[in-house]
Amino acid sequence: MSAPVKKNDEITLLITGMSSEGHGIGRYEGFAVFVPYALVGETVKAHIIKVASSYAVGKLVEVTEPSSDRREPACSVFFKCGGCALMHMSYEAQLEYKRNIVRDALERIGGFQGVDVSPVVGMDDPYRYRNKGSFPFGEQDGRVVWGLYAPKSHRLIDVNDCVIESSAAVNAANAVSKWANGFGVPAYNELTGKGVLRHVVTRSLTGGSAVSVVTTGKLPNKEALVNEIRSAVPDVKSITHNINPNVTNVIFGKVTRLIWGEGAVRQTIGGFDFSVSAESFLQVNPVQTEKLYSLAVDGLGLTEDMSVCDLYCGIGTITLMLAKKASHAVGVEYVPKAIADAKANAERNGVGNAEFYCGTAESILPRLVAEGRQFDAISLDPPRKGAEPEALKAVAACGARRIAYVSCNPATLARDLKILAGYGFTIDSVRPVDMFPHTAHIETVCLLSKLHEAKHHVNVKLDMDELDFTSAEAKATYKEIEEWVQEHYGFHVTNLNIAQVKQKHGIIERENYNKPKSENSRQPGCPEEKVKAIEDAMRHFQMI
Ligand code: SAH
Repeated sequence: MSAPVKKNDEITLLITGMSSEGHGIGRYEGFAVFVPYALVGETVKAHIIKVASSYAVGKLVEVTEPSSDRREPACSVFFKCGGCALMHMSYEAQLEYKRNIVRDALERIGGFQGVDVSPVVGMDDPYRYRNKGSFPFGEQDGRVVWGLYAPKSHRLIDVNDCVIESSAAVNAANAVSKWANGFGVPAYNELTGKGVLRHVVTRSLTGGSAVSVVTTGKLPNKEALVNEIRSAVPDVKSITHNINPNVTNVIFGKVTRLIWGEGAVRQTIGGFDFSVSAESFLQVNPVQTEKLYSLAVDGLGLTEDMSVCDLYCGIGTITLMLAKKASHAVGVEYVPKAIADAKANAERNGVGNAEFYCGTAESILPRLVAEGRQFDAISLDPPRKGAEPEALKAVAACGARRIAYVSCNPATLARDLKILAGYGFTIDSVRPVDMFPHTAHIETVCLLSKLHEAKHHVNVKLDMDELDFTSAEAKATYKEIEEWVQEHYGFHVTNLNIAQVKQKHGIIERENYNKPKSENSRQPGCPEEKVKAIEDAMRHFQMI
């Protein structure tokens, strides 16, 4: 259809949805119009600033009918800065929005209709949660300032404070600006390539803070800089200088020099003590990280005789937690420095049953499988682009019956789950965790399992229904039960859910499927509402 709007039109629009970037979406004569900062249910006036073939973008001019979810942002530059996207929404509404985005991706991209997405695990206090602050410098009115970039641009917004950052990161940035203004050290200008001071990166961890100052070359007045940072950040343990002379938006250059204190700082996670070097990935929200990792690690239901492989393991955070519950854990990661950290972390924490491989998940796991290695469970935590098909193929071939997939991108999660479903895995639970309050980013833990191919108990591949031989006279197929529940209760139940209820009623013997190797090991439980629905279906089919 040709666009019913043109640039500079001012339109009135009812907002009916929200994009994965947190922008309001309305339909103007059927044509999609995106309006940043508009909320679902609101009627707004929007000034059209862009018209593409299938959508337009409008700038919010006025909210004529506000949503009850609308809030005054806790930050004065929220509407200018590109750091946060949802601060104009109540926190409860942010969580519900994120749940919907995950559900929508699973349905649209993954093809999982009616999938049960649990409520998002939120924070009690969703401010000052970040343990890593990374701020560029610029010049405004002849002074050096630090800040964040405007949405989708490299225009610096002078922020003064950032309410989702640690105080250490804000104080360090103010200290470095003060030093630069005091000694006339010019900020780097991306357009001209001139200037000296580029970034300040602060990690604020349980073992203290680490501040890294990035410049294009030599560091003038080094001692004054160290003093300024030490007095502004009392718990600082490490100050480094990184040199980045390149015309790039990559923050760090190749050379890092320690100018004060220790080389790495420590973070306690899940009872382990981790050393984190600047090059290694570390989750930025420590409070939520504990919850995220527990959901993944506990969700696998490991027992002491099980082996597990942790793909995309970084410095081995999840790997060590898994190793504690399993007979053996293998971690795979492609950044050499992170693997060095992971090995040192295992040793420092006295974890003797973890082994690490440096290389891509898509090359290492297929190789291990080809060498005959098998695993009972897999945990994977890939970057935003998700897992490579080769890695997923190896996950399916390695003997694992349970998977914990930790994802920071619902779209690639949905794509990969569809591939795993094709290999016979079913989704047992989907639980988003809010690692990044006030931004549109979403982290999700998805637990999957595979019922057939139970290695030690059933040697031939059987259908679920063939396994279910004890009640041949009265039985509906798994698919019939699943469809009946969907129709009468409006939600999806998995084969595992059905098998668990059948087992509860003695219809299917535990011996016949997926038996955990130790009696006290846990199967992921079937939620009470699902048990009821399945029992209802079984009554309908006269099985009980
Ligand atoms: N599980 C870790 C790290 C997760 S972030 C934690 O929670 O701390 C994703 C990690 O995957 C990063 O450390 C990144 O370096 C690594 N990575 C990215 N692509 C990879 C690939 N193809 N193979 C292996 N590791 C990869």
